Amino acid sequence: MLDDDDVEAFERHLDGCAQCQSELLESHDVPGMLDAVKADSVSPERTRP
Ligand SMILES: [Zn+2]
Repeated sequence: MLDDDDVEAFERHLDGCAQCQSELLESHDVPGMLDAVKADSVSPERTRP
């Protein structure tokens, strides 16, 4: 199954990504979406204070 870290990172990304939100609703393919998010997050972004 999925790592807690993976799920947390995914949910954080999903929260601000309309594209992933719509794709997730269409596909329900969470593991696949996680892979996409990882590929999408090559450059580290820290939006937390
Ligand atoms: Zn996204």
